Amino acid sequence: MQRKKLFIPGPVEVSPEILQAMATPMIGHRGLEYSALHGAVKPKLKKLLYTENPVFLSTSSATGVMEGAVRNLCAKRVLSCTCGAFSERWHEIALANGKEADPLSVEWGRAIKPEMVEERLATGRYDCLTLVHNETSTGVMSPLAAIAEVVRRYPEVMFVVDTVSSLAAVKIEVDRLGIDVCLAGVQKAFGLPPGLAVCSVSKRALERAATVKNRGYYFDFIEFKEYDDKNQTPCTPAISQIFALNTQLERMFKEGLEARFERHLAMAKRCRAWASAHFGLFPESGYESVTLTAVSNTRNVDMKHVEAELAKRGKEISNGYGKLKNKTFRIAHMADCAPAELEGLLRELDEIVG
Ligand SMILES: *Cc1c(COP(=O)(O)O)cnc(C)c1O
Repeated sequence: MQRKKLFIPGPVEVSPEILQAMATPMIGHRGLEYSALHGAVKPKLKKLLYTENPVFLSTSSATGVMEGAVRNLCAKRVLSCTCGAFSERWHEIALANGKEADPLSVEWGRAIKPEMVEERLATGRYDCLTLVHNETSTGVMSPLAAIAEVVRRYPEVMFVVDTVSSLAAVKIEVDRLGIDVCLAGVQKAFGLPPGLAVCSVSKRALERAATVKNRGYYFDFIEFKEYDDKNQTPCTPAISQIFALNTQLERMFKEGLEARFERHLAMAKRCRAWASAHFGLFPESGYESVTLTAVSNTRNVDMKHVEAELAKRGKEISNGYGKLKNKTFRIAHMADCAPAELEGLLRELDEIVG
């Protein structure tokens, strides 16, 4: 297998130190060693999420917790903010679980705006709102803080946010923003191999969950909480991933969270400048993602050719997602990606597309 450095928006490149942590000898999940590990990870996650809420470890991909969140928190009706593939998926998940749900949709490439949310919440029909902060399919980052301000005015509404491709790259102050559930998979900006998701759950969200029927079994937040209090998980967790997460959180604090957020922003600015000079940016101006750049393929370059040429150089970027295939392509710059590595990629893209 030819080794390719990943510049795709998940899974991302994983550092050797993390792969090494994954190889830690196995331990039992009901023993003291596991509880010590779980107990060590918890305060670190709280620090990263700027929260006093418990942050649960879910052995699943992020989609599992997206499903869990609507199952646990919606008793009445979900407002699904949709602006791309992952947010549309969340709406489908709500319907698939028998929840009443309406989409608040904008065209792919555009962001969800606070006034749109206000207009819909004012109807009083909803008790749960789902928002994807960083739509990885379109490279759009919706204005989380401004939307949070609106949602806070509706105390009945649970504010459930997918930060799968932004958490650990962008400052997300869960408590200050009043986010009831903040969820992410670890294979994006955390820079870990896939297989684990994390989610913070507020006190009022747990109170809501306690009143909701048919929360399901595997993603029952009440069960998550009971076990988390004992530094355990209801079922066997992905212990190797949790060893790696513990190491990675240490590495994040060593870099410094502010420095980490700045590094991501600097890479985003650099990549946007490159994209604007050679092509165009796909997202609505002012709402470009910090962790990936969605480039409009304005010159109609042959993506197969680009991918093959990059593969020869041992690198990989992403074509556009779904209906955006060939019309856009995506360059991810997140997790442990260094500015110099992005520079190297852009130089090679210069050679390939001129
Ligand atoms: C990748 C991604 C998901 C899905 O995550 P899985 O871990 O594959 O389930 C959901 N939302 C966003 C924004 C993503 O980028």
